[in-house]
Amino acid sequence: MKDLLTDLIALQNVELEMFKAEEGLREIPKGVEEIESIIRARKSALDAVDEEIAALEERKGPLEAELTENQTILDAADARIKRIKTNKEYLALQREMDLAKKRKADIEEQLLTIMEKIDKKNMDKERIQRSFESDRVILDEKKERLLAQIRELEAVLEGYKGRDEELRKSVDASLLAKYDRIKQSKKGLAVVECADGVCMGCHMHVPPQLFNELVRGDKLIICPTCQRIIYVFPEKGQE
Ligand SMILES: [Zn+2]
Repeated sequence: MKDLLTDLIALQNVELEMFKAEEGLREIPKGVEEIESIIRARKSALDAVDEEIAALEERKGPLEAELTENQTILDAADARIKRIKTNKEYLALQREMDLAKKRKADIEEQLLTIMEKIDKKNMDKERIQRSFESDRVILDEKKERLLAQIRELEAVLEGYKGRDEELRKSVDASLLAKYDRIKQSKKGLAVVECADGVCMGCHMHVPPQLFNELVRGDKLIICPTCQRIIYVFPEKGQE
């Protein structure tokens, strides 16, 4: 019986390895995608700060232009004030100058606020960049490891390619059908060793009578607890 089971056990090993490899190839790419999405999120956080800085820089332009214009008004007023004849004209010009000075102070205040904001944003940017750069090393390493695992699993699958079909052809048809049925309900593990009277599928003891039959090895024995096909290695059976 054990001889009949040899190819079946080999088939199960191949199928379990292939199943594990296929499962890995389904799961590992998710980890890669996760890492890539973390990197994308970090990049877009940096882009967002850049955009905020650019928007603040843009606000500076018109204010600086107005400041220059205002200075021209003040300079012209300064030149005019020396040539003024009447008190009334003097007071009017003085009022004009006061307004311009007030506006100048106001614009300078606004520019200062914007520049402070830009400084703060630049510091934020540096901080994000620094942490991103150090995390990036770890993320890239992680990703590289996952990609290596994918390549390994692909090589495993490639190595087993066709081997399962070959073994299927050499296993007795009705035994194969039984194996496939059990495999379906037991998530892959259908043929297990029975060591020291214990089924390695469910870790329960097999009744002594059944174990004796198993050792005799003249018929197919199913574990009464988990319904898997069980076998013993001849040397162990004799112990
Ligand atoms: Zn069992």
